[in-house]
Amino acid sequence: MELLFEREDEPIVIRRPCALQFDSDPIHLARASKQYIYDTAGNEYLDASNNTAHVGHCHPHVVSAGQSQMARAACSQGYVCDVQKRYLKKLLETLPEKLSVCFLLNSGSEANDLALRLARRYTGGDDIVVFENTYHGNLSSLIEISPKLYRYEEPRNRESIHVIPLPDSCHIERENVPHETDRLVQEARSLIQAQVKRGRSIAGFLSEIIVVNAGVVVPPNGYYQGLYRAVREAGGLCIADEVQTGLGRMGEHFWAFQQHGVLPDIITIGKQLGNGYPLAAVITTRDIADSIGDFVSTYGGNPVACSMGLAVLEVIQNEQMQSSCTMVGYILKEGLVNLKARYSCIGSIRGSGLCLGVEIVGYNSGNPDPFTTNEIKDRMKAEKILLISQGPDHNVLVITPPMCFTTENARRFLRSFESVLAAIQSEGFSFKKVRTHYRNNVTTSPDSQYSSSSDDENPRKRFRALEDLD
Ligand code: PMP
Repeated sequence: MELLFEREDEPIVIRRPCALQFDSDPIHLARASKQYIYDTAGNEYLDASNNTAHVGHCHPHVVSAGQSQMARAACSQGYVCDVQKRYLKKLLETLPEKLSVCFLLNSGSEANDLALRLARRYTGGDDIVVFENTYHGNLSSLIEISPKLYRYEEPRNRESIHVIPLPDSCHIERENVPHETDRLVQEARSLIQAQVKRGRSIAGFLSEIIVVNAGVVVPPNGYYQGLYRAVREAGGLCIADEVQTGLGRMGEHFWAFQQHGVLPDIITIGKQLGNGYPLAAVITTRDIADSIGDFVSTYGGNPVACSMGLAVLEVIQNEQMQSSCTMVGYILKEGLVNLKARYSCIGSIRGSGLCLGVEIVGYNSGNPDPFTTNEIKDRMKAEKILLISQGPDHNVLVITPPMCFTTENARRFLRSFESVLAAIQSEGFSFKKVRTHYRNNVTTSPDSQYSSSSDDENPRKRFRALEDLD
């Protein structure tokens, strides 16, 4: 994605680090506060998707922690720093004792890169197992293991990356297949074992536990227990990428891995840790941490980042954000489930707490429907509510707002969402023809777009306009 700025002699081109939301009419951000974003025209938007501003945009406690630390000491490389110790103690208190060593870094990508290095050093293996349709960061090492990017960039070391199917409990429930979890674990185990038999050495399995980047996909209960066992039998470590899900967002559990009853060997965290300030972490066991030599980072764990990270944890605790997130998430989910019963374009509601996905499908086909998804997003924006979409078919609306989202915000969201769905339905989904033409230069009628089996008619192949990687 490029942005052009006019200059007298030549345009200035900025390669943006990620795609714009609402690319035809992007928001010109002026400021943000709590769960609201303000544009330069003075409009206030309810932010229903920014999980980086975890405790709320520009939370005063976090801002003042950063400001005062900035004035005291901003860098600490080579020194011991009290705020760093206080931060690590508080962060590690949220985790099982076994995960006792923490590396502080600056981004989720850096954290995942270090996790791969640790797994490879500790096991002596090379190969990494990942889920299909997933994304783990923007470094070369992570592009390689992010199947979501393979359609744009072929990985260089493809033989050492093993992509396994990502089971979706919503689809399994819908199809009502008995004993599916055991079969799915067995399938994954066989794929991993086949690689071991070929002489490949498995270093680890890296995944989000609730796979937000694939469209908030939640594997069935018991699946991770079986899969982690299979990975460890093959000699690999289990790495949980909590970059999108950590710090209480899942509601009843502080970490997504707790929800699935497993204990990873390494966890990686980013985004929410610094509430918008760059801060990330890798947390692991003493043995695994000791498998690498020196660890050096100029900015990793700098005192400003630690002060802000500490303030984030304090806000979560003082403002009881985890329990509020559980309750608000419950109201939202229940409201969405009610809407699903009345609007056939809702295929499923996934997730928990303030990490929810709404799958949008064709009203008469049940197939993924990126066009309606996009139309809903645009109309919600007109209602001054911001949403993003995810998934290989760009058809899952992701609701991951700042944790200060209130019950009143949830009710407003549901009211607007219902009125958008009702309008779209009463118009007979007639926007699609225009939408399709605009996006892809292909004209197709609303009813026929998923009826053909040819590859050209496959929405997965055609709908490539949005590259919503975060
Ligand atoms: N892991 C996951 C699951 C992510 O969603 C992302 C970014 N969206 C990353 C890692 C990379 O984090 P960052 O952009 O901070 O490098």
